[in-house]
Amino acid sequence: MEKVITTKKIPFSGKQLGEIISRYPTPFHIYDEKAIVDNAVRLKKAFSWAHGFREYFAVKALPNPHIMKIFSDMGFGADCSSMAELILAEKVGISGESVFFSSNDTPADEYVKAAGMGAIINLDDITHVGFLEENAGLPDLISFRYNPGPLRDGNAIIGKPEEAKYGLTREQLCRAYETVRGRGVKRFGLHTMVASNELDPEYFVDTAEMLFNLLLDINSDLGIKFEFINLGGGFGIPYRPEQKPLDIEYISEKIKALYDEKISGNGLHPVRIYMESGRMMTGPYGYLATRVIHKKETYKNYIGLDSSMANLMRPGIYGAYHHITVLGKEDWPCDHVYDVTGSLCENNDKFAIDRPLPEIEIGDILVIHDTGAHGHAMGFNYNGKLRSAELLLRPDGSVKLIRRAETIEDYFATLDFGGL
Ligand SMILES: *Cc1c(COP(=O)(O)O)cnc(C)c1O
Repeated sequence: MEKVITTKKIPFSGKQLGEIISRYPTPFHIYDEKAIVDNAVRLKKAFSWAHGFREYFAVKALPNPHIMKIFSDMGFGADCSSMAELILAEKVGISGESVFFSSNDTPADEYVKAAGMGAIINLDDITHVGFLEENAGLPDLISFRYNPGPLRDGNAIIGKPEEAKYGLTREQLCRAYETVRGRGVKRFGLHTMVASNELDPEYFVDTAEMLFNLLLDINSDLGIKFEFINLGGGFGIPYRPEQKPLDIEYISEKIKALYDEKISGNGLHPVRIYMESGRMMTGPYGYLATRVIHKKETYKNYIGLDSSMANLMRPGIYGAYHHITVLGKEDWPCDHVYDVTGSLCENNDKFAIDRPLPEIEIGDILVIHDTGAHGHAMGFNYNGKLRSAELLLRPDGSVKLIRRAETIEDYFATLDFGGL
């Protein structure tokens, strides 16, 4: 029988983390640069067959310029969906078609900014054609986000896209391409995103097949030639120790076979393959380091941390699993059961519920895994909680502060106490 894996590794020794904590007080998120780069290199290599393949890092997952710079240096673009994300990209030196603007319910000033940067604009609705034209003019190149609605395509059931607010229906999509072509648009792309934290590789193969088929149909119906398809994000990661990561090489191989058959086979080569993954690019390579400040025994056994769901909201809002390592007790038996809590006055402020862990003492350091995407980024200030620092563990073992912790002055910066 295959042994079930119950532990997860951390990229630093207890001594090393102790030294880091002596310089940067807990809580903080720390990201492993070498692991981020190795994973990105692997993705690039897997898709090296694909002419012009490009990952646009979904900035919302980890909106830190130092992380974006790592990806930009590797030739990746930035997937932005708000003004702040566009400005971040600009400040990192990412512009033009290295920016993919995949927004929804978009304010006019964001379209103006994206158009000004020469970003690829991906429209979320047919009515946005006119809205974009009025506010920023129509660029040469336009992409639309497809929402396939309630359908079964290939082997996998594609979520419940009909419940999602995103994208155009198929019928709208055809009208939209015709409309923009009529108004002078010359270059075309096709986008979809129908998954979230999906670990089934067939899902992404099916998504590519769906887009290739759609591209063929629109090409033969309207004579529109597409430059790219964008598979979106939603690539899952193994939050639980027993889960397996996505087999990117397998996904790539399957997509290549489909590409050869449908795109090359119909004389439509080249069509570039884009994706805009966030979670898979950084999620597994971030860790929240936090200290135990209280232990409490009532109807249950509680461990109280110096962090809260303001630092990592996923367990509190989705009941998401995040693995916890108790530093220095990696090999101890998990013979205690705890609720691991933060300090918000909200009972869902729990990092783990009924989690078997080694016996924990006040002062222990807990490492909460897989916080590299949608971790710090989802932070908030409710209850007056301050957002933590972000650190980068460099390949040479040194540590760089890539965002300082908020101070109480930051928190009060928007208030004026005068005239009370
Ligand atoms: C959130 C989002 C992504 C990234 O999703 P991940 O799950 O982090 O890969 C990509 N594209 C769009 C349009 C998104 O909204």
